[in-house]
Amino acid sequence: MLCLGVGNADLPLKPDHIATGAQKRIVRNPWRLSWLSRVGRSDTICILGSGLTMVDQVLALRVHGHRGPIRVLSRRGLLPHPHAQASHRAQPIEPELAGSREISALLQGFRRQVRNGADWRGLMDGLRPMAQGLWQQLSNDQRARFLRHGLAWWNIHRHRIAPEIFLRLETLRRDGIVTVNAGFLEAIEEGHRGVLVRYRQRQSHRSRSFNADWIVNCTGMERAGVSHSPLLKGMHRHGLIAADELGLGLSVDRHSRVIDCEGKPQPGLYAVGALTAGQFWEITAAPDIRVQATNVVGAIASRLRYGVRS
Ligand SMILES: Cc1cc2nc3c(=O)[nH]c(=O)nc-3n(C[C@H](O)[C@H](O)[C@H](O)COP(=O)(O)OP(=O)(O)OC[C@H]3O[C@@H](n4cnc5c(N)ncnc54)[C@H](O)[C@@H]3O)c2cc1C
Repeated sequence: MLCLGVGNADLPLKPDHIATGAQKRIVRNPWRLSWLSRVGRSDTICILGSGLTMVDQVLALRVHGHRGPIRVLSRRGLLPHPHAQASHRAQPIEPELAGSREISALLQGFRRQVRNGADWRGLMDGLRPMAQGLWQQLSNDQRARFLRHGLAWWNIHRHRIAPEIFLRLETLRRDGIVTVNAGFLEAIEEGHRGVLVRYRQRQSHRSRSFNADWIVNCTGMERAGVSHSPLLKGMHRHGLIAADELGLGLSVDRHSRVIDCEGKPQPGLYAVGALTAGQFWEITAAPDIRVQATNVVGAIASRLRYGVRS
């Protein structure tokens, strides 16, 4: 069974757009929190990405005594929404939408329900158990469309933060400690102190820059297809695995069986977790992986008990 998880995504920059002298100022894997011990109290931090990992890093910096400015840069500058203060019920989406194969029809239906008084958080929670099925009925074109245009919006509505955390972030923004910029990273150069971050501002397309002591990569999970690790690269070379069509991870069938380079499921070889996002999409959180792992374990037990070739 392949359950290798996925790492942090690479910086969204070509290597020749990063000055050699700037490399030591880049924190590529912020989940190794040891980087915090190198940060000076008033250092300027540039965080790339404005999702949950950014929020974690801002809070971790504050706990470690950092009091300097934190400049967040992401393509759209969108921040996660808070959970509701009061508990609410998951609400189903309209039954006719559940069979939709068009991402824009799904979105329009969702908006219509909100306009008609439904609580968006309840609808998002109602979508969660249906998300894998909805994803599987979309064509690859529709899935790619969702990744291009809808992903950032999905993330901020689906992956929410506790109201208290949201309030702390809002307070840091109001006090000018955290600033959020919407733009596309263009280059990381050596600055007179630390590094110079160049970016193209969203919509105005103006080139802008600012100095920072550290750049922290919080751009999200790696979508590495088959180049995730030497293990998978080797398996790919031998034709044992193939990338899914969107390059999110490995090609697997609906039973999580790994598909080889000839398009055949490999008997007895399964993948579990984020590597299977191409087939299941919502498969990174523990509750979804638990269900998948239970199904795979059941299939393996059947093989062992009855010698089934699956
Ligand atoms: C910041 C953050 C917050 C999260 N918060 C939540 C949350 O609140 N709720 C939730 O449900 N989920 C959360 N998740 C997702 C959660 O991490 C995953 O659900 C879970 O860790 C995935 O488990 P996994 O076993 O598939 O992968 P991982 O936990 O990533 O484990 C993969 C393992 O495989 C090993 N490995 C990788 N490659 C190789 C190799 N070539 N050879 C040998 N070993 C290898 C790795 O070292 C690692 O030990 C969060 C994730 C992050 C990053």
